[in-house]
Parts: sequence; structure tokens; C-alpha cells
Amino acid sequence: MAKHPVPKKKTAKSTSKQRYGSFKTRVLKKLSNRVNLVDCPNCGAKAQAHTVCHECGQYRGRQVLDKQKKIDKITKIKA
Ligand SMILES: [Zn+2]
Repeated sequence: MAKHPVPKKKTAKSTSKQRYGSFKTRVLKKLSNRVNLVDCPNCGAKAQAHTVCHECGQYRGRQVLDKQKKIDKITKIKA
């Protein structure tokens, strides 16, 4: 005889679909809780901790991304 656990009844399609249907939202929720958002000390925008602020391009008081250069490039192409 079978010594391992045997299910008494077949699992209906709808039951398994319900179970796995919420998988994506659950994973996304978990990931969003993991990301640590902090206020940028320079501009105050929400930025990921220990990374460059994408609003002003500063990291720990240093200018890392040159935002002004990008703006100049865009305006040059248009003009
Ligand atoms: Zn900033």
C-alpha cells in the first residue's frame, strides 16, 4: 500500500487557478516592500537608499549624473 500522503480528491482546475492566480501580485507586493525609499537630502524627492538620486543626480553631496548636460543636448537637437 501507499505509505506517502495521497490526496483524497482531485483538485479542481478552478481551485488551482485561484491558488496560483495571486502569485504575481504577491511577489510584486513583497518586492515593493523590500525597496527602501528615502528622501533625497538635496531635492527631497523619493529615491532608493544608497543609490544616485534620479531627480537631481546627486549622491552623498556629490554631483554624479550631469543633468544639465542632458537638458542641453535635448534642446540642441530641437533647435
Ligand atoms: Zn535628489
